[in-house]
Amino acid sequence: MILKAETIWPGRGRVIQDGGIKIEEGTITEIAPFKDITRGRERVQDLGKAILLPAFINAHTHLDLSHMKGKTGKGSRFEQWLKSVAKARAMMLLESRSIRRGISEVIAGGATAVGDISVSRKSAALAYKHGLVDSVVFCEVLGFDPADAQRKLDRLRARFEDTGGKKHVRLGISPHATYSVSAELFRGCARLAKQLDLPMAIHAAESPSEVEFLATGTGKLRELLDSVGMIPKNWQPPGKRPIHYLDELGVLKRSPLLIHCYQVDESEAAVIESRGCSVAYCPRSNAFFRRPTDSLQLLLHAGVNVALGTDSLASNDSLSMLDEMRFVKQRHPELDWETVLEMATVNAAQALGIRQGGALKAGLPADIVAIKPASAPALPSQILGEGSSVMFTMRAGHRLRRPVTSRGIFAKA
Ligand SMILES: [Zn+2]
Repeated sequence: MILKAETIWPGRGRVIQDGGIKIEEGTITEIAPFKDITRGRERVQDLGKAILLPAFINAHTHLDLSHMKGKTGKGSRFEQWLKSVAKARAMMLLESRSIRRGISEVIAGGATAVGDISVSRKSAALAYKHGLVDSVVFCEVLGFDPADAQRKLDRLRARFEDTGGKKHVRLGISPHATYSVSAELFRGCARLAKQLDLPMAIHAAESPSEVEFLATGTGKLRELLDSVGMIPKNWQPPGKRPIHYLDELGVLKRSPLLIHCYQVDESEAAVIESRGCSVAYCPRSNAFFRRPTDSLQLLLHAGVNVALGTDSLASNDSLSMLDEMRFVKQRHPELDWETVLEMATVNAAQALGIRQGGALKAGLPADIVAIKPASAPALPSQILGEGSSVMFTMRAGHRLRRPVTSRGIFAKA
């Protein structure tokens, strides 16, 4: 098969006009101006004014919260929101349906892989089944009482030993956050990740209340944790900023994926860079809570590998990477369009350890997204303008179909 399109963006610094991509057995064998592609009997799909790019990668999702779309109010207080999410999780009966709904949105938004956080690990098998095979599902663990750490670790280890016989995507470990995981459990997770050679992901430096809680043990987050009896006896605040605290615990030596990081200062950004951590930055989720802080430029200046994620439908309108990139470009008009596209492609591939992702070149899998620009000419910068849309999302030469749910097919592939 040969895909023909007005424009191809294979990665930074290159734009191919009137281009072609030859695909054989799911792999790209040629990518060049269409006139230079060697021709045999292959079928040519002429996509006209489309723009072809490496398929997007969504660095942070909670697919199992997809049933919460539209059920949380924008501008909610973070602590209230945490409460409503915990309640929704406890009442969740239709987890698989919720995950399928999320996968459907991910594919519709042009992505072929996610970095998902899961309590039950169900998304690992469903992501595989529906074609998001390069995804990583991080198994979440919470536990603020040090006395519970060993029991939690034993349970976590068992989840990796028993895969339930179903094919699934790569697994990782996610100690939830600095305010919900004890120092003992953090260290134990890092040891387990090393033993089992698993990637790690941690929510960190998300809200001002997290920074206050770690520094002084006070504030709204303290009130919330007190109200649910989560603060163990004799607990003392570490008296440090979130990233410095994680570094002191030794967990940053595992170069975990750090999720959010909106509240970091320059010294923390430098630590993130020096430990080789990537950041999963979720700008629409940050805006959902109407936080004034935005550390994107600070992280980029420090040389941190920043990937974009949508976070869950409990704090975002969609799981579309195209929507997320558009939002970043609106918020940061000073960023060039290639920097924004890289955060959703090559940077996200690096963040999740997807070695063959985020670029289009001969020898790599044909993971491609086709975008219809809002208006002519089909320039890559137009992808980020209003009105552009995903035509299809392709994984290894096959168009991904969106999962069927009990409410029917969300949309045709
Ligand atoms: Zn999250």
